[in-house]
Amino acid sequence: MREELVRRARDLDAADPLAEYRERFILPENVIYLDGNSLGALPTATPARMQEVIRGEWGEGLIRSWNDADWIGAARRVGGKIAPLIGVQPHEVVACDSTSVNLYKLIAAALDMRAGRKVILSEPGNFPTDLYMIAGLERQGLAERRLAPRDQLIEALDDDVALLLLTHVHYKTGDVFDMAAMTKAAHEAGALVLWDLSHSGGALSVDLNGCEADLAVGCGYKYFNGGPGAPAYAFVAERHQKALHQPLTGWFGHAAPFAFSDDYAPAPGIDRLQCGTAPILGLAALEVGVDLVAEISVDRLARKSRALSEFFLECLGEWGLDLELVSPLDSTRRGSQLSFRHAEAYAICQALIARGVIGDFRDPDILRLGFAPAYLRFEDMAEAARHLVEVLESGEWKKPEFSERAAVT
Ligand SMILES: *Cc1c(COP(=O)(O)O)cnc(C)c1O
Repeated sequence: MREELVRRARDLDAADPLAEYRERFILPENVIYLDGNSLGALPTATPARMQEVIRGEWGEGLIRSWNDADWIGAARRVGGKIAPLIGVQPHEVVACDSTSVNLYKLIAAALDMRAGRKVILSEPGNFPTDLYMIAGLERQGLAERRLAPRDQLIEALDDDVALLLLTHVHYKTGDVFDMAAMTKAAHEAGALVLWDLSHSGGALSVDLNGCEADLAVGCGYKYFNGGPGAPAYAFVAERHQKALHQPLTGWFGHAAPFAFSDDYAPAPGIDRLQCGTAPILGLAALEVGVDLVAEISVDRLARKSRALSEFFLECLGEWGLDLELVSPLDSTRRGSQLSFRHAEAYAICQALIARGVIGDFRDPDILRLGFAPAYLRFEDMAEAARHLVEVLESGEWKKPEFSERAAVT
């Protein structure tokens, strides 16, 4: 069985047009990395680029590099490169701050654009920070949170809803929202829509403008491989930019930051989303990751991601393993991941990590395996499936050390 699956996997790898890209990442030996959806792998080009930026642009260039190395344009430049990967124009995206901070700015801006409406509608079980960022605005008396299960969201849209806030690919289950349909429903109710693309950007084909989306945010350190804590990105549709006012009115969002005026005046376009000085080192690393995704193309990545997860399920099936899949069985309806429910998911995940198969656990009972398509092979699928089967059948996960919880799970 093992030999047969590995042979088939090797055939698939030999025919894989993306196989050559594995070398463009630095991956530890004897590790099958199924957590690129949480922290993307390190591109081979990143260390050299960082060295260049640190030694050359910072060490030698010093303050001159704001102009000479275009540090001043970095947030827009990197945003502009992300733009076509999410279906929008370069002047509609800026890379800045964290996803959480961008959520705050855009939720507040949406409330400002829908005067008289206070409700932010989302679903229970959305990514925590998306729900938590509403809380601060509630405390300020500006917002009111409303949650409705995903099959009741459309009915929950009424005249009070200012903003529909959804995560395109659910972080736990991998379920994908119908972006066009949800956006249309929100617009019919007079609300704006803010899409969190953290688990879509760089892995799935996203067409924000084709869906007439209003606002979006996304993460730089997952499928864009920008490194831990990489800057995030924010999108505002061109038609909203003039009327958009976000509350973090720092000097980098000013129309003329270096005029040092006493009074705030927002920059004319997407620049008004910036707040303080851009993290140049973080943007430099992110740019390498984004360039690589653009070179491979999101469509090709999405196609391979589906093929990988389908093959993984096929391998489990061949081994006769019956685990509860909580992700949609139809690969076109899920993101680049498979999530399984098991009461002992935490210990199983730890036992897999001890074998070099790195996935993650999501409280309380989800084993989540991510299939970052740029650097995974079909052979990794066959081997990871075998490890999972062995961990479960041997009861290896029952060892006490696999139940101890670390600070980050
Ligand atoms: C990863 C993720 C975030 C991350 O937010 P940070 O501010 O970078 O910590 C936000 N939203 C979703 C849906 C995510 O998956």
